[in-house]
Amino acid sequence: MVEHSGRPTPPQVDRAAASRAAIAARRARAAVKAEVASGRRSALSVLQTATEQPEGVEGRMRVTDFLLSVPAIGSTKMHRALDALDISPAKRLGGLGRHQRVRLHEYLESRAAARGQHPTRLVVLAGPTAVGKGTVSTYIREHYPEVLLSVSATTRAPRPGEIDGVNYYFVDDAEFDRMVAAGELLESATVHNAYRYGTPRAPIDAALASGRSVLLEIDLQGARSVRSVMPEARLIFLLPPSWEELVRRLVGRDTEDSAEQQRRLATAKVELAAQDEFDFRVVNASVADAAREVVDLMDIRTAPSRP
Ligand code: 5GP
Repeated sequence: MVEHSGRPTPPQVDRAAASRAAIAARRARAAVKAEVASGRRSALSVLQTATEQPEGVEGRMRVTDFLLSVPAIGSTKMHRALDALDISPAKRLGGLGRHQRVRLHEYLESRAAARGQHPTRLVVLAGPTAVGKGTVSTYIREHYPEVLLSVSATTRAPRPGEIDGVNYYFVDDAEFDRMVAAGELLESATVHNAYRYGTPRAPIDAALASGRSVLLEIDLQGARSVRSVMPEARLIFLLPPSWEELVRRLVGRDTEDSAEQQRRLATAKVELAAQDEFDFRVVNASVADAAREVVDLMDIRTAPSRP
């Protein structure tokens, strides 16, 4: 059978299945919109999922329907925003160009900030091994008590001077497994192919709910995981002044044997290559200056410069 357009008509049974699939997809999109409208899900998280899965439920959502589901955006505001962002109303979220996506992200973020929400209070500090993330975050804990420095769980043994509950929660594999299974960790990763590290979720939720800023000092895999579950998090990459300085810091630290140092240097090279994924870069030439820059970036009025 051939339609006037010349396209063959699918057999009856396929059409019924296709129409059932279309209804299911519409329902799924409606559920996402209802979640955004009720505030249960942030618009930023929908945009992030759409970016990762352009053919998924969020990706197939029209940008017009999406914006209309955001609290306090009506038809006039939606059209004005699309004009300003240079996005055609016919676009679907998953079909936005990279620059359109960045503009839409910034628009949603600044709206949330203006409405008294604090979407960027969660800051992730990552960077290559031995760059001094630990020193900078310890400095922040000591000099900026208003910032909560998240304490991770790890299966590695304490180094001399490290205190359980302050530097890390030192746990065994069984306890780490239990935390993962119970959903107690926001993210977790095996770092340097050796030990497991994870970020306890509860203290972060409590701090954010009370309006406190939170700093996570975690590895690259962890930063990526946090971005996917909390797209409103701000990601900062700490850089060494130079590669030579990074090698000097790693070798000078003398806490690892030479095989471990080589392994960490190899990891550092891969990690340095990921800096463009981050919202901001801070060079750690002086600990106090780097710490101040990181804390300044926790100010939600600072416009993000996503690549
Ligand atoms: P260290 O054993 O030297 O204290 O840390 C090794 C690496 O693990 C560092 O790169 C540190 O940022 C990372 N790390 C510490 N805590 C966490 C965490 O909770 N999650 C993840 N993904 N990485 C972490």
